[in-house]
Amino acid sequence: MTRYESLLLNNGNVSPEDYVTCSGINENHEAYFGAVAPPIIQTSLFVQANYQQYCDDMQQETRRYIYSRGLNPTVQMAEERLARLEGGESARCFASGMGAISAVIIGHLNHGDHILLVNQVYGPAVELVKALAHKYGIQFDVVPDGDVALIAQKIKPNTRMIYTESPGTMTMKVVDLRAIASLASHHGIITAIDNTWPTPLYQKPLSLGFDIVIHSCTKYLAGHSDILAGAVITCAELMEPIRDFSHQLLGGVLAPFSAWLLLRGLRTLPIRMQAHQQNAIAVLEWLNRRDDVENIRHPWLASPQEKEIIRRQMSGFSGLFSFELKHADFHDVKRFIDACRVFKVGCSWGGYESLIISPNRGYNQAALDESGISRGLIRLSIGQEPVSILINDLDNAFKALRMPI
Ligand SMILES: *Cc1c(COP(=O)(O)O)cnc(C)c1O
Repeated sequence: MTRYESLLLNNGNVSPEDYVTCSGINENHEAYFGAVAPPIIQTSLFVQANYQQYCDDMQQETRRYIYSRGLNPTVQMAEERLARLEGGESARCFASGMGAISAVIIGHLNHGDHILLVNQVYGPAVELVKALAHKYGIQFDVVPDGDVALIAQKIKPNTRMIYTESPGTMTMKVVDLRAIASLASHHGIITAIDNTWPTPLYQKPLSLGFDIVIHSCTKYLAGHSDILAGAVITCAELMEPIRDFSHQLLGGVLAPFSAWLLLRGLRTLPIRMQAHQQNAIAVLEWLNRRDDVENIRHPWLASPQEKEIIRRQMSGFSGLFSFELKHADFHDVKRFIDACRVFKVGCSWGGYESLIISPNRGYNQAALDESGISRGLIRLSIGQEPVSILINDLDNAFKALRMPI
């Protein structure tokens, strides 16, 4: 094992503190009859003992249970757990990952403010920024990778936020989070990162100097492909506009039942992530030995320079990555995907089930060519099935490609 591998793969890469936080073993069970699973406080409304109590509560709206668009104990329990995992003062949950992304951007940007999108950012987040530019006069620029000199060049007097994702969507490129955070803080710019891919178990951006962390809890955090949820974790001060404007007024809050399923998912996050990581590495190593595959994109197979950055800011990997079938067109992609039996065709990721998809939909090849995306690109989300079954499934798909039509 190389030093890189052993640093990332020692079994202790999920800290005991994170195990405790995820498991909930320190919950106050007495508060609910000793039940090991917390109750779902399935209510929109909290009634008050008398009118004076109501008046007092309304004065402290952000801390009292009044109405579930503000605070709900089940949602709050999930929020506290996420805040602890990311090492942040405050967390707020939203009805989806996009709800969390829009809460951050809309909550912190005003008309005329400039935002820098760094590295390959989740497509709908870019669409959101473009729509805000069109409708509400926000300005934006895109820096396609983590080149700090280029980011510095693009900073303007009205730059309010640097928004990034690392590893980046599709390209899986890793950016130097400490360097970006330090550049931004030098200019008084807020930094926000979508930390969905590594989860807080394998990357803690607040500890690297980032200001705001965003999650689509729909993916690994909930982990069972059965809810939509999002979260924002930051300090109390930066949470204020997110809480008062985005959460309370825009109103895309998380439902108590979804929060309960999220809490349930978090209990097994550490062992699920280890399973995803182990399976993904086995599949990656297998793919890497094939000569009908190229450009496998996963931090496990990063360049030496990137590996240096990875060692400084990540402690493990998840199971989403892409690779290219050599000399492939839409029909090859279709044959390959349809030959899979275990890998299901689907666009999300982070669940127990393995998934396969391609950006090549046949009718969009011109757009793919224009944006430099290979026609043979395949994206896999590696689930928790025995790895021999996954490799066997892919092997059959490669064989199907070679069969005469
Ligand atoms: C899925 C996803 C989102 C959006 O989350 P939803 O819960 O689907 O709204 C945001 N960022 C990344 C990286 C994602 O994969």
